[in-house]
Amino acid sequence: MANVAALPIMLKSLRLACIGTHWQTLAKKATAERWVPEHYLAELCAMELATREDKRLQRYHKESGLPPGKTLASFDFSALEGVSLQQINALIQNPHWVEQGENLLLFGASGIGKTHLASSIGYGLVEAGIRVKFSSATHMVQELQQAKQNLGLAEALVKLDKFTVLILDDLGYVKKTAQETSVLFELIAHRYERGTLIITSNQAFKDWDHLFDDSIMTVAAIDRLVHHATIMNCEGESYRRKASLKRMASTQ
Ligand code: ADP
Ligand code: MG
Repeated sequence: MANVAALPIMLKSLRLACIGTHWQTLAKKATAERWVPEHYLAELCAMELATREDKRLQRYHKESGLPPGKTLASFDFSALEGVSLQQINALIQNPHWVEQGENLLLFGASGIGKTHLASSIGYGLVEAGIRVKFSSATHMVQELQQAKQNLGLAEALVKLDKFTVLILDDLGYVKKTAQETSVLFELIAHRYERGTLIITSNQAFKDWDHLFDDSIMTVAAIDRLVHHATIMNCEGESYRRKASLKRMASTQ
């Protein structure tokens, strides 16, 4: 028979940390309540799994870089036209589109809530166990540019594959230098049919020419983005402006 005294070491080497912490306390309860051995084992396994799931979610939240507080709960849909709570909920609750590597493009004027909305979708997907990375488009392009200079662009793109969803915020603000725009194209081409991109932009496609080296590249990038994509146009008054007007009115 196996040696019970070696149990802590065996659990450690099996990396069953939660069971390692709780098996003794639970054994007392099991004895007191006359559980069958299967019941005891099942309780321990359930504890281990729940703890692992919690830790995984914490890890996913941390690595996502999502802006704090920009969740669905704090988003006021009455202020927005063109996008409804039902549509956003459907994207979160049925992430089939993410499994297919489809994209989501959010357009609208500055201050309308695109970043907040993209972030809320990100939070919802993380809760559903999906790995998400949020980044300003400018920052992402700078990082890839640096990788390219160090001859590591291909590797950097592959590294991003671990994120099922990549949120590129404010694509319109990416500066145009030939090298920068080509890494943006390479990112879009690499993610095509491989992983979801959620993109926010305050510029319509017709104004995207400044983002890429030439119009052929612009068309090729847009083609790849929209081939499998949901496009949402946020309309209404700038929430940011409305909020500051309200603040000014209340201080007068
Ligand atoms: P955009 O990315 O379109 O420029 P943001 O998402 O950054 O706009 O929104 C500007 C500010 O207003 C943020 O602080 C955001 O949280 C807030 N905001 C925008 N729209 C809403 C909304 N409908 N409900 C709650 N807060 C909003
Ligand atoms: Mg924004």
